[in-house]
Amino acid sequence: MRVAVIGGGISGLVATSELAKAGVEVVLYEKEDNLGAYSKTATFNGIDLDLSSMLFNPVVEILGGDNN
Ligand SMILES: Cc1cc2nc3c(=O)[nH]c(=O)nc-3n(C[C@H](O)[C@H](O)[C@H](O)COP(=O)(O)OP(=O)(O)OC[C@H]3O[C@@H](n4cnc5c(N)ncnc54)[C@H](O)[C@@H]3O)c2cc1C
Repeated sequence: MRVAVIGGGISGLVATSELAKAGVEVVLYEKEDNLGAYSKTATFNGIDLDLSSMLFNPVVEILGGDNN
């Protein structure tokens, strides 16, 4: 069986991992150039930040980051 997973957020990453562990041939497609999406962790000025909390706590702007 061959499976395509669309989206490299936590759902797609876990689905891809579980399918691969089960021996399924799986390909993950992500439209952005990085993985994780809402649950991505980014590093700004040496500090790891969970971007899923950005909507409530815009600490990246406070630190002068640019979300990349
Ligand atoms: C402020 C905030 C706080 C949160 N706190 C928690 C928490 O404490 N605990 C918890 O369990 N959850 C929390 N969540 C929820 C959690 O972050 C999300 O439910 C989870 O990250 C969603 O993951 P997902 O993979 O379903 O979707 P997403 O993270 O949205 O990923 C979808 C991916 O699919 C890609 N994509 C979309 N369309 C295409 C396409 N056509 N082709 C290729 N790729 C595509 C996108 O680029 C993206 O990478 C929080 C969310 C927010 C916003």
